[in-house]
Amino acid sequence: MKKRLLVKYLIAYILASVSALILVFSLGSQLLYNEITNSTGRRLYSEISRVANDSSMKRIKDETSLRETMHVLQTLADYETARILYITEGGTVLLDTGETSDSTRHAVIHGFDPVALGSGYYSTGNFFGYFEEDQLTVIMPVSNEMQISGYLSIHIQLSSLVSEKESLLRIVLLILGIVVALFLFVLIFISISYQRPLTKIVEGAKEFAGGNLNHTIDIRSDDELGELASTLNFMASELAKTGESQRNFISNVSHDFRSPLTSIKGYAEAILDGTIPHGLQDHYLEIVVNETKRLEKLTSGILTLNDINAKKTSLEMTEFDVNKTIKATAELFEGICTKRRISIDLILAGSELFVTADYGKIQQVLYNLLDNAIKFSSDNSSIGIETSIRRDKAYISVTDHGTGIPSGKLNKIWDRFYKVDSSRGKDTKGTGLGLAIVRDIIDAHGQTINVVSTEGAGSTFEFTVDLAKQD
Ligand code: ADP
Repeated sequence: MKKRLLVKYLIAYILASVSALILVFSLGSQLLYNEITNSTGRRLYSEISRVANDSSMKRIKDETSLRETMHVLQTLADYETARILYITEGGTVLLDTGETSDSTRHAVIHGFDPVALGSGYYSTGNFFGYFEEDQLTVIMPVSNEMQISGYLSIHIQLSSLVSEKESLLRIVLLILGIVVALFLFVLIFISISYQRPLTKIVEGAKEFAGGNLNHTIDIRSDDELGELASTLNFMASELAKTGESQRNFISNVSHDFRSPLTSIKGYAEAILDGTIPHGLQDHYLEIVVNETKRLEKLTSGILTLNDINAKKTSLEMTEFDVNKTIKATAELFEGICTKRRISIDLILAGSELFVTADYGKIQQVLYNLLDNAIKFSSDNSSIGIETSIRRDKAYISVTDHGTGIPSGKLNKIWDRFYKVDSSRGKDTKGTGLGLAIVRDIIDAHGQTINVVSTEGAGSTFEFTVDLAKQD
C-alpha cells in the first residue's frame, strides 16, 4: 500500500520538478537575457559617455590626433570585448577599433541617422548594415563648443550576450538540479521511514478485522502514526473487553440458571417416580418453590439491568420526599426483621427531604442495599439508614453491623454476578446482580456511591441524589 503512496508522491514530485525546469527554460531564460542586455547597455552607456566627454575627443583635428584617440578607444574596446566607432555626422567612419589596417580610406555608412536608433540607452540590429551580425549598440554624440563634431558608438555582438545568458542559465539549472535531487532524496527517505510503521498499522488493522483482538501494533513513535497505532490498540482492547464481558455474562447466567434447574428437575423426578416418600414430598416441594423463586429473582435482575442500560437516557425524573421512600422501603422488610430481631434505625434530615430523581429506581437502590444489609447482618443486630445534606446534595447511607467485606474484594462487589463467597451460608440465595443494578442506576443519575466496610464489623453504603430545586 505504501509503495503505491510513494509512487504517487514521486509522480507528483517529478511533475512539479519538470514544470519548474520548463519555467526556468522559458521564462527564466527570457528574463535572464533581458537583464544581461539591460545591464550591458547601461554599462556601455556610462563608459562611452565618459569617453565622449573626454577632452581628447574634442581635439580631433587631423590623422595624428585620430591615431592618438584610437589608442584610448582600443583599450576600452579590448576591455569590453566590444567594437568602437567614431563617425562623422555624414556617416564617415573615421575610427573603427575592429579595423586593423592603417589605411586612410574611411568607410561610409549609408543612411546613417542616429535619431533612427530610438531614444533608449541602447538599440539592437546591424547598425545601418555596417555589421553582418546583430549588435547591441550604444551611440553618443561628441560635441565641441556646442557643435556636434561626430558620434562615438560602441557595439557588442548579441550572440556573445546570448552565450553569456546560456552559461548563467547552465549554472542556474545545475543548482536547480542539485536541489531537485536533494529533495528527491529527502522525499524517498521520509517515505521509506513511514513505510515500516504504515505496513505495521495495515497488518494490525487486518488482524483486528480478522478477529484477533489480542494483536498489538508495535509503534512507539510520538508522531501521528504512533498516535494512530495506540488508538487502534486501544480500540481493539476495548472490543476485546466487551467481548470478554459478554462471554462472562453468558457463562454466569448459564451457570446460575443451571444449578436451580438441576435441583428442581431432580426433586420433581424423584417425587414423580416415588423415590421421595409421600410424607416428605411437602418438604421437597418447598425446596422446588424456593429454587423457582431464585430463578424468578435472577430473571428479573437481568431484565432490570438490561432495562437500565437500554434506557440510560430516559429516566423518569420527579421530585419526591426521599425520607418517605426510605420509611416505605424499610416497612417492606418488617416481617424478616421481626423474625430475626433486627432493628432498623432511621436518622433522617428533617421531616421531609425532597430530591429530584427517578422514584422507582431510587426505591430499587434502597431495596437492594437494605436487602443486603439484612442478609449479611447477624440476628439481634441493628441497621441504620441516615439522610443528610452536604454541598447541595442529599446523602443517603445504609449501615449494618454484619459480616463486612474483605478490603481486597471491595472493588469487585459492583461486578455482575459477583459474590464475595458464594458458598457462605447467608449468601446462597443471592444472584450477585443487586449491587450491579445499584451502580448502574446511580451512574444513570450521574451520582456517586461509595462503600466503607470492615470485615467482621459491618459496612456502610452511601450514595448521593440531587436535591429538589426550591421555588
Ligand atoms: P446479591 O444479590 O447476591 O446480594 P449483590 O450484587 O447485591 O449480590 O452483592 C454482591 C456481593 O457483595 C454479595 O454477594 C456480598 O458478598 C457482598 N455484599 C453486598 N452487600 C453487603 C453487605 N451489606 N455486607 C456484606 N457483604 C455485602
